[in-house]
Amino acid sequence: MIHDQARYAREEGSVREPLLSEKGEATVDVTASSPLPDDLTRDELTLPDVSEPEIARHYTRLSQMNWAIDSGPYPLGSCTMKYNPKFTEDIAADPNAAVHPDRPDRTLQGNLELQHRLQGFLADIGGMDAVTLQPPAGAAGEFTGILIAKAYHERHGNDRSEVVIPASAHGTNFATAALAGYDVVELPSGEDGRVDFEALEAAVGDDTAALMLTNPNTVGLFERDIEAIADLVHDAGGLLYYDGANLNALLGRGRPGDMGFDVMHYNVHKTFATPHGGGGPGAGPVGVTDELAPFLPGPRVRESETGSGYERFTPSESIGKVHGFEGNWQVLIKAYAYIARLGDEGLSDAAAKAVLNANYLAERIDLDVPFEPFHHEFAATAGDRDAADIAKRMLDFGVHPPTTKWPEMVPEAMLTEPTEIESRSSLDDLAAAFNAAYADDDESLETAPNRTAAARIDQADAARNPRLSWQALDEDA
Ligand SMILES: *Cc1c(COP(=O)(O)O)cnc(C)c1O
Repeated sequence: MIHDQARYAREEGSVREPLLSEKGEATVDVTASSPLPDDLTRDELTLPDVSEPEIARHYTRLSQMNWAIDSGPYPLGSCTMKYNPKFTEDIAADPNAAVHPDRPDRTLQGNLELQHRLQGFLADIGGMDAVTLQPPAGAAGEFTGILIAKAYHERHGNDRSEVVIPASAHGTNFATAALAGYDVVELPSGEDGRVDFEALEAAVGDDTAALMLTNPNTVGLFERDIEAIADLVHDAGGLLYYDGANLNALLGRGRPGDMGFDVMHYNVHKTFATPHGGGGPGAGPVGVTDELAPFLPGPRVRESETGSGYERFTPSESIGKVHGFEGNWQVLIKAYAYIARLGDEGLSDAAAKAVLNANYLAERIDLDVPFEPFHHEFAATAGDRDAADIAKRMLDFGVHPPTTKWPEMVPEAMLTEPTEIESRSSLDDLAAAFNAAYADDDESLETAPNRTAAARIDQADAARNPRLSWQALDEDA
């Protein structure tokens, strides 16, 4: 079944929803007695003159112009856009969580205990020995992890200059290595889409500080030679970094630590809970082996040395802070709540369903999927059609499209990750939208989307000439 999205009347390419202040303004007297000095107060305030229902409708309309996981499937590959159970929001909003982090440890025991348990959950899930919760995103976790690797090598009087990264890796891997001062050695993919072992042997040597790997990789393929890869890098004195963005495929079934990885990040907003996208807050805790634990950022949380309760501490050779306090605390609460609710069985069931859903959807679409068998996401190819056109047309059919044109090793890629949350019928809807868009005529594709709040946007122009302040359409130059 394909949904008709036509809900909006467009004007000049986008829906006209006036600002509240454009609906009328009222000046309110605010001279009520104030304890503040006169130069810090004002007498009058101009506010929109609208009733409560008008406000509710205004914001509801605005929210409906945007796509959200709460409005339908959101199979954006690599991003793992999951529905976020609402109970995690309730728990993060508990007033007991909203305490100032500068308070003394003895007054924050409940919060510290939760952090300590979360460090333990994540260490267990990843097969790591120690965890910091501080980095505020996956990319920040990568940067933290590579700085830790650098500190480790320097500590051992072992200056190394290179980080090896497969061509199929996420752009943040390359940025991380460069920002940490390393030369990037890019590794071509083998014909089967995995690491080309011979190319890796040639790339790894005395200068290798680390190999950064995503496993399963960005087309959903698990590295078959992971143990041989780990031995090769370790024998050369390098470290193995695990990009945890695809951990959803492995939860409760495989652990990066057991595969030989030394340091990893967790994108808790992808694998566990927290709405993300559009740059919303996430968290990127980092796990390491015992050998690397002294270099972690502080504060971390441990059981108190006096034997009762919990305390914060900074590891002995810490690389320093990468964010304030213990990171994005409320995001971490949601991750904790999600893991605690699902438990071991629930987590490994989520991984199984994520893999099943990706494989079911791939069977139902008419596009080719070059690399098989894959895990929790797949890169279909639009062949001689434009992946971006198909994606725009899918919006008209009431689903969010997949990630397009990445990774580059698949031509006109449509990287699709339905995640474990979709039912069979919503996967069927998604496949119907895929197939209808893929089979559509050129003109419909080139002008799509036609039924959304905004028409096709000139993305290059929007990026180069952003309009950073509000202008009503009729005032436009
Ligand atoms: C999302 C992602 C990242 C970066 O994570 P953020 O939390 O968005 O900073 C890194 N690697 C891969 C493979 C990703 O999908």
